[in-house]
Amino acid sequence: MRLHNLPSEFQEALPILEKIKQAGFEAYFVGGSVRDAILGRSIHDVDIASSSYPEETKAIFPRTIDVGIEHGTVLVLEEEGEYEITTFRTEDVYVDYRRPSQVSFVRSLEEDLKRRDFTVNAFALDDQAQIIDKFDGMQDLKNKTLRAVGRAAERFNEDALRIMRGFRFAASLDFAIEEATFEAMKETAPLLEKISIERIFIEFDKLLLAKSWRRGMEALIASKAYNYLPDMREKAAQLSQLLASLSDDFVFRTSEQAWALLIVYLEIGNVKSFLKDWKTSNEFQRTVLKLVDIYQLRLQGEVTKQVCYRYGKDLLYLVEEVRHAQGLAVAYEQIETLDQTLTIHDKHEIVVKGGDLMKSFQLKPGPLLGQLLTEVELAIVEGDLANEVVAIMAFLKEKIDNE
Ligand code: ATP
Ligand code: MG
Repeated sequence: MRLHNLPSEFQEALPILEKIKQAGFEAYFVGGSVRDAILGRSIHDVDIASSSYPEETKAIFPRTIDVGIEHGTVLVLEEEGEYEITTFRTEDVYVDYRRPSQVSFVRSLEEDLKRRDFTVNAFALDDQAQIIDKFDGMQDLKNKTLRAVGRAAERFNEDALRIMRGFRFAASLDFAIEEATFEAMKETAPLLEKISIERIFIEFDKLLLAKSWRRGMEALIASKAYNYLPDMREKAAQLSQLLASLSDDFVFRTSEQAWALLIVYLEIGNVKSFLKDWKTSNEFQRTVLKLVDIYQLRLQGEVTKQVCYRYGKDLLYLVEEVRHAQGLAVAYEQIETLDQTLTIHDKHEIVVKGGDLMKSFQLKPGPLLGQLLTEVELAIVEGDLANEVVAIMAFLKEKIDNE
């Protein structure tokens, strides 16, 4: 079967396949980009698999970088772009249900395709745009079915991350999980506890951001696999509530927005430690914490100037989007107006600095200085004080005289 309309990303990369072939090896496009091209979706990262061993690949191209040579991956830098070329491989010894402890390079494409997780991820595409489909992935694409390559339980036993990937692909492709595959996911779900949280986070995050995230979540709930994810044990009702609370067409716009709402619905007491358990970055934690705060604040009342200043309108809007999808009152216009009336958006914009204060009023660093600066900040935000040196100095003098 041929792929009509070879996407430009593949066309641009054809010379790479040609060069590998001229050197006497086989080379194909593989993985998610082939699946997406067949589906007519836009593609990203073109992956190339080749029968050449890493050293052989490096001998073909003048400029290469060893990005994952122990797994057989070499990054090739050519005029047409940068491409990861991975040697056909099998993953033979699995310890602890995680990544293979050892990969073996092989010369056979079919062996390489066999180790891939789902039939729709196991296509190869040659330089003539011929689709190689060893596991009836085409049929599954047509039927919108996600099916494990080979015996599902075995495949999830080898690498339990595939269970999470299964939910993720159900969401991103809007596919149903084939029955035997789903049964195996249920059965092997406890193995998720052996998988690194960082890898699970990546898949869960992709699930939440997918257009059909509901589908992935529903499968996760039905499988009871959430029991093996950090801080989600016995949380089926809460996860279902989250789904039920949002309009059918709602799609999360950012990860932070999704995780914040997840946290609200999971009724997490200590948000920080939840986010730490999920091994998220400090920056991610800060933003999610703010969004959770805003969400709770908005359940209590309207946005004030101080709230608008403290959180900024971008984060406030993210919460309003969620509120809109939940049929709650929204305050876009009010936020916009408040934001426009703010004379500062950040305390660094205040024209008087701590140093000025120390000099003018013979103050030492300490709590009083901090308190005075905060009072200035609050008064400026409230609109009671102009952000001008003379006004601020007068304001401070009065405060200090009254001390
Ligand atoms: P996306 O479009 O989100 O990048 P993808 O299908 O390209 O999805 P990747 O995680 O980028 O997924 O992996 C590329 C390919 O590598 C997959 O299509 C699949 O063939 C294979 N693969 C990745 N991870 C695994 C795994 N844990 N087990 C088996 N095969 C895997
Ligand atoms: Mg990919």
